[in-house]
Amino acid sequence: MTHVITQNCVNDASCVPVCPVNCIHPAPGEQGYGTTEMLYIDPKVCIDCGACVSVCPVSAIAPDYELRPEASLFERLNALFYEDEKNADYDPTPVPVTRRQWSRNSDDVLRVAIVGSGPAASYAAEELLAQRGLKVSVDMFERLPTPWGLIRYGVAPDHQSTKAASTGFEKLLRNPSFRIFLNTELGTDITTDDLARRYHAVIFAVGATESRSLGIPGEELKGAHSASNFVAWYNGHPDHAGDSFDLSAERAVIIGNGNVALDVARVLLSDPSRLERTDIADYALEALRESNIREVVLVGRRSAANASFTTPELAGLLHVPGIGVRIDGGTGVPDGAVDSNWPQTNVAYKVQLLEEAAARESSPRMLTFRFLQSPLGIVGSSKIGGIVLVKNELVERDGVERAVATDATETISCGLVFRAIGHRGREIAGLPFDQERGVLPTVESRIVDADSGEPVAGAYAAGWVERGPSGVIGTNKQGSRDTVRRLLDDYEAGLLPAPQDASDLADELPNHLDAAAWKRIDTAERQAGRAGSRPRVKTVGIPDLLGLAADTQQ
Ligand code: NAP
Repeated sequence: MTHVITQNCVNDASCVPVCPVNCIHPAPGEQGYGTTEMLYIDPKVCIDCGACVSVCPVSAIAPDYELRPEASLFERLNALFYEDEKNADYDPTPVPVTRRQWSRNSDDVLRVAIVGSGPAASYAAEELLAQRGLKVSVDMFERLPTPWGLIRYGVAPDHQSTKAASTGFEKLLRNPSFRIFLNTELGTDITTDDLARRYHAVIFAVGATESRSLGIPGEELKGAHSASNFVAWYNGHPDHAGDSFDLSAERAVIIGNGNVALDVARVLLSDPSRLERTDIADYALEALRESNIREVVLVGRRSAANASFTTPELAGLLHVPGIGVRIDGGTGVPDGAVDSNWPQTNVAYKVQLLEEAAARESSPRMLTFRFLQSPLGIVGSSKIGGIVLVKNELVERDGVERAVATDATETISCGLVFRAIGHRGREIAGLPFDQERGVLPTVESRIVDADSGEPVAGAYAAGWVERGPSGVIGTNKQGSRDTVRRLLDDYEAGLLPAPQDASDLADELPNHLDAAAWKRIDTAERQAGRAGSRPRVKTVGIPDLLGLAADTQQ
């Protein structure tokens, strides 16, 4: 018998240090951790003690005998990881998490500001506050009236266990060395200079908020959207609550083969009753109930084996009742390549899952995969009528299989097109920016001048704005630990500039919301959800959120 890690895994590796036999890999610091789709339990080493179950923030681990039928394939997926010969040699010696013991005698308090309140920002705050003997104060600044960033506004509503990752972050709010400033926007309410004057160090963890564009004709037509805007809309993000998506056509097309594409496809094709008990925005649920979409076409420029959606997320989607699967034109994987190039790996398993799903019966709601195809243009007059696709072939260059267009094109009719081709960060006034990659330029998390490469003293980055938009929520935990370690190295080496201004920013931010204000919003939303057995009913407009935040007892 063994324990098994399942779909919800967010890679935060909380389970790794508690495992007495070190059977969970890849762990932070081990090869493959930064890119792994999930963590895996080695069934041959697991002693079935269950220590990992209680520390998993998203309830992703279960003993094999308690797996729900739809999760049983994860037993195979965990085992497969260790059947892959390159993963067979993980060291069974547990790797302890080491933190230095601080013994600074002075009254000096290390003052750190963190901009952003999503996973990378919150993990950084946790790590700073977990240092033994360090006198530290952490102020977190968030432009919205609500904290936790992508957990509230990015994770899909039918992934409630993933949203549970924020339960740990809520503990920050009870730490006397931590303050949160919600409703406080960098560039509007505060500047980078305000922060640099008052703090030894600032960690920028503001995410990658801009969607990449396809750069093809017709992208400006009504009905062409960024998938991220749709995600923000159904999650009740205040910036997108007023957006509208015309769901009256029968077919929608999504460009891109990442997890965002799968999230959007799943939400569009699910029976709305599946979403009724979630925290989906009420207006979005209503629109989905009225939706005519019956087919979503997922267009990937490379093959099924190259798709960046993860096997756990694919497996989750394929188990949603009522969604049939079609593969139009094949997986793009040459015969025999799965066995010879990816034997016993989860790439092979991903392709196998797709093929098995396509062999099942069709359904009134269909998900059609089109691999090895790229969009050339979106057609229509006042609104979208279709999309022109070109067939690609794969050409290996510098060890990477790249998509190269052929002459074969095809136009398919559709009423909606979503681009789900990744994100980029937004420039921050007063800081250098890497325009090409859409990130803050860094060397080992230290923000550096793009030309000279010199570090900007006291300025650090974490999360997507540091490394680009990759990885799942818990991937940020190790990344933020690394950022904090480097910040503390610089503190120890006396490299952090002393704050010049002792005044408290709180006195200059009369409109900021604190932890107590967020608790009032949180409590009101949860109470509103109770009647419908929902985790919460989200309030979406900023004035309404501010109304809930107001302390009427005063
Ligand atoms: P992603 O994983 O980087 O996927 C982007 C997709 O767009 C890839 O298939 C890429 O193809 C394709 N693409 C890029 N440029 C293109 C172009 N010009 N034309 C056609 N296709 C193009 O990005 P994402 O889906 O936005 O996800 C971002 C991160 O968030 C990922 O790490 C993801 O795992 C994570 N996430 C996780 C979850 C979850 O766990 N449930 C949910 C959402 C997001 P190539 O491979 O050929 O470049």
